Amino acid sequence: MEVTLVILKPSAVQRGIMGEIISRFERKGIQIVGMKMVKLTDETLEEHYSHLIGKPFFGRIKDSMQASPVVVMALKGIDVINAVRKLSGVTNGREAQSGTIRGDYSMSVQENIVHASDSQETAEAELGRFFSENEIFNYSQHLLPYLYAGDEL
Ligand code: UDP
Ligand code: MG
Repeated sequence: MEVTLVILKPSAVQRGIMGEIISRFERKGIQIVGMKMVKLTDETLEEHYSHLIGKPFFGRIKDSMQASPVVVMALKGIDVINAVRKLSGVTNGREAQSGTIRGDYSMSVQENIVHASDSQETAEAELGRFFSENEIFNYSQHLLPYLYAGDEL
């Protein structure tokens, strides 16, 4: 099983839709194995969005991500990294398909509700950035036989 990192951005926190977004992951059958509210520092954001540091809008993204605390989540499942990216939708909320989180809740590129890791390598680095080992839990998901076929596990 894989684990991926999701951040409920200030756009989710301020709009009061944290619960709705968390419910979507739960209803999909994805296991929540870590979750906490944090305030993102400049240093963390410079690491987390290092691929955007040279962009003219980097300062704006940083301000947006620091506008309120965020919720960081560790989510577990088979191929969960790809599954969560699909559930999230493309970056621009105006372009994202209906039925996805960004497609249903966002009209913006920047204020797009969630962050989700985009590869195994990033997931590992991002989980390490936001969680210590004892904040990610290994517990059995009793519905597992109803979520996956035996040969998928
Ligand atoms: N972003 C933005 N303007 C852009 C590109 C990105 O405001 O032109 C923000 C947006 O919030 C996005 C985040 O920076 O979610 C990270 O960008 P990335 O290209 O990694 O998109 P994502 O992986 O979040 O879809
Ligand atoms: Mg990205």
